[in-house]
Amino acid sequence: MPSSIPPLPGLTRYTRWDLVPDGLQTKTMLARQGLKPGADPVGQVLYHGNSYAPLYEVTAAVPKRRVSPAQRAVLDRARELQYQCRRCGFLGEEPLGKGRFCDPCRYAMTLWEQHHQAQLLARELVADPAAVLLVVDVEPDSLPEAQGVALVGVRDRQVLYAAEAGEYGSPERGAVLDRLDVLLAGRRVVEEPDFMGPHSRYPHALLRLPNSGPVVSGRDPLHPWAAPSSAANDSVTRIWAGWFGWTDRHSSTTACAPWEWSGDTPMPWSRSLDLAADGQSMAGLLHRIADGTEPVWERAAWTLDGYGVGLAEGSA
Ligand SMILES: [Zn+2]
Repeated sequence: MPSSIPPLPGLTRYTRWDLVPDGLQTKTMLARQGLKPGADPVGQVLYHGNSYAPLYEVTAAVPKRRVSPAQRAVLDRARELQYQCRRCGFLGEEPLGKGRFCDPCRYAMTLWEQHHQAQLLARELVADPAAVLLVVDVEPDSLPEAQGVALVGVRDRQVLYAAEAGEYGSPERGAVLDRLDVLLAGRRVVEEPDFMGPHSRYPHALLRLPNSGPVVSGRDPLHPWAAPSSAANDSVTRIWAGWFGWTDRHSSTTACAPWEWSGDTPMPWSRSLDLAADGQSMAGLLHRIADGTEPVWERAAWTLDGYGVGLAEGSA
């Protein structure tokens, strides 16, 4: 007997038994039920730390001799599992295919995944001492002294900087840009809006002529923190929207910010002339999402059907 059995080329390797999908078994396991493989192996599992055993589809297995009622039950159960949603138990008329989820569950889990990712990102930001909220308000029609900028630490909610931003092209605005270049060097910048948010609140608004047209995406070589593309910086609105789980129509699989369309949902952070306070309010929101205490939309897809996520991590 060889001291180890090397893996077969081209077959998925599972290094732990709990990673092996339902419905795959070794020859030995099949034999215990009076079955033998009926097709080529579809995977292999590591055992004894140095050997691989081929894995076969139970549904393709054939009886070693004649089918006993117990063997028939095993085969029927394995076939039935292919028609049954792993989250809600719905029994379909067609095999459910990869992942084995019905359509409503797939929809709910897609939105739950955005919710989950939002929390992971919030936790990452809250734990990062270099993450900072850059809050900007530069309305084209406002008085110069109403145009401001503030920096607030995400983790400690300390105000690092707050200033009037002056008018575009003024010495005041130039001094603010210089200061931000220094303060934001090497920091992870979180901004307020996403692509649906108010344009006067993008960091890039500090660099734009009032009422000028759309900006090209990509980072500004002089002021990299003023990324005009909404995907370049993390965004409080985007994180919260993913967490909250609101969708603009029933079939949409992308969570978005409801306050653009509906007054039913109050914003969970303040938007005022006190930008430092607004930044602290946003930092508080990120902390609540990280902690899981921030409310979720009462009609978020994964909460409506009562199945929650329904699956342990790693089993999908
Ligand atoms: Zn289902």
